[in-house]
Amino acid sequence: IKLDPVYLQNTDNVIIGSIVNIENITEKVKLENMRSDFVANVSHELKTPLTSITGFVETLILNENIDVENRNKFLGIIESESDRLKRLIDDILLLSFIENDENMVSEKVKVYEVFKEVYNIIENIAKSKNIEIVCECDDKNISAISNRDYISQILLNLVDNAIKYTPKDGHVKVIIDTKEDFLIIRVMDDGVGIAEKDIDRIFERFYRVDKARSREVGGTGLGLAITKHIVKILEGTIEVKSQIGKGTEFIVSIPKNFLN
Ligand code: ADP
Repeated sequence: IKLDPVYLQNTDNVIIGSIVNIENITEKVKLENMRSDFVANVSHELKTPLTSITGFVETLILNENIDVENRNKFLGIIESESDRLKRLIDDILLLSFIENDENMVSEKVKVYEVFKEVYNIIENIAKSKNIEIVCECDDKNISAISNRDYISQILLNLVDNAIKYTPKDGHVKVIIDTKEDFLIIRVMDDGVGIAEKDIDRIFERFYRVDKARSREVGGTGLGLAITKHIVKILEGTIEVKSQIGKGTEFIVSIPKNFLN
């Protein structure tokens, strides 16, 4: 609680009263703490690949006669750590953009068309793991008045995760449907699943159930935080059901008529 007293004086400078403004700053302090935690996390996340890059560059500079095999190995690490840095920066910028997006437009969005675009982006990664992606959409003309880029980003993040956390030869299913005034997008996989204790935390920024696995598949730990934020902007909800070793299902529900 913050108290800011203002004293009222008469013409002889005698205090004749006071106005006290009582402000509950619990939320403000919480937000401020979250912000500084985020800055600390961002710095840490960016520093890790950078330290690795500078370390290997230095090694290459100091060892002119390094053999080709090791040289290529180090260059490979520098390349993949640079990619990781780029993905992190892209996701951080995207999160910051959606948090400050004041000019978001609503338009008629044909959801199956958006899915097809996302599929084109992701097809090769799925094929490289022999993962089959099917889309169930009874009415290919299902549309919503919403934001096209945001719906695309939701689909991209969820399908990308489904592929990332499903072993080779797995299956991913996307269901596009409507229920009353809502558009329902469900993304299911038969992958590694998420333990009960982690379910509530996976939407937190930089939270990863298995850091090593996320890193290996190129995760930044921001995908679900971005997805959840977008769903919130679109005044919808996101739910997750999962069973370890069996698979995961994300269910997004957003208003069909979102007039910004
Ligand atoms: P990341 O970049 O690590 O994938 P996300 O924010 O997208 O970050 O997801 C957070 C964590 O949630 C992941 O690290 C992973 O542990 C878990 N996760 C997300 N989607 C799935 C899924 N479909 N199956 C299993 N685990 C998942």
